[in-house]
Amino acid sequence: MSLLELRDVTRSFPGPPEVQALKGVNFTVDAGDYVSIVGPSGSGKSTMLNILGLLDRPTVGEYRIDGMLVGSLGEDERAAVRARRIGFVFQSFHLMPRRTVLDNVLMPMLYSGVPRAEREQRARRTLDQVGLAHRTEFLPATLSGGERQRVAVARAVVSRPSVLLADEPTGNLDAATSDEVMALFDELRADGLTLVVITHDPVVAARAGRSVRIADGRLSEVA
Ligand code: ADP
Ligand code: MG
Repeated sequence: MSLLELRDVTRSFPGPPEVQALKGVNFTVDAGDYVSIVGPSGSGKSTMLNILGLLDRPTVGEYRIDGMLVGSLGEDERAAVRARRIGFVFQSFHLMPRRTVLDNVLMPMLYSGVPRAEREQRARRTLDQVGLAHRTEFLPATLSGGERQRVAVARAVVSRPSVLLADEPTGNLDAATSDEVMALFDELRADGLTLVVITHDPVVAARAGRSVRIADGRLSEVA
């Protein structure tokens, strides 16, 4: 059974004018896969990632996580599945500017029922894993772009999700710092995490074992 499965998924935005951002998309991700998604701007990449991340839902078609149809879940259940199973990383980091690095990474565990001491231990261990143990008390604005994105990755994986979804994670980074983030993705992958990464950068796309392309809402495998 696949970890993630989209079957005949269409996503329409009513407009006017109506836009079909995804058209009959079939896509599966197995546990442990590292998949990149490429395609021109406006082709439907973020729409697809938002559906995979339960931030949005198909207009038509089915989405299953571990075989479970998630389309029929209520909002609270969807949020619970999202919190437990999915980590998100965005191009512009989305860190809380007035909170320290440590607080940013603690945030997803606040309402998780994990005791405080253990939350902090996990956050520190994850920051150590991304090479930022020496930055825990810093504010995001004092860090480099590559460091900020590594904080965002730490925050995304601290709750040990099944899959990390990244939307242009290196889009704001230069080649050297983009390499830091890719090296981190390789490590997470080696630890068993499943990754789905949208990118414009052929170098980033090539790091994944598999690549799919979206053009005008239609998905195809890249050989
Ligand atoms: P990409 O991430 O590949 O650049 P998107 O998935 O963001 O593309 O967008 C695909 C298409 O759907 C675009 O035409 C975009 O304008 C449209 N779109 C995306 N989100 C919305 C929305 N919330 N409302 C209306 N149209 C949208
Ligand atoms: Mg996008």
